[in-house]
Amino acid sequence: MDGLENIYLEDCPCCGGVGSIEEEGGWCVYIQCLDCGAHTSAISYDGQTTLYEAAKLAADNWNARKVHAPGPGE
Ligand SMILES: [Zn+2]
Repeated sequence: MDGLENIYLEDCPCCGGVGSIEEEGGWCVYIQCLDCGAHTSAISYDGQTTLYEAAKLAADNWNARKVHAPGPGE
């Protein structure tokens, strides 16, 4: 398999919660906090990028604290 469980995620930069790798629609992946909902930009993996590579990029953003804080009502 792609070994997504081997991708290292820091704690949530917003609340210190647990980040989770989320796939959406079979074409993109992002990291989202299970506690507060902060998330990275979605990285698409269709074409030349595999799901694992896209998840790694999203994880890099997450670990660099490049996340969108949850907005009102989100
Ligand atoms: Zn959080």
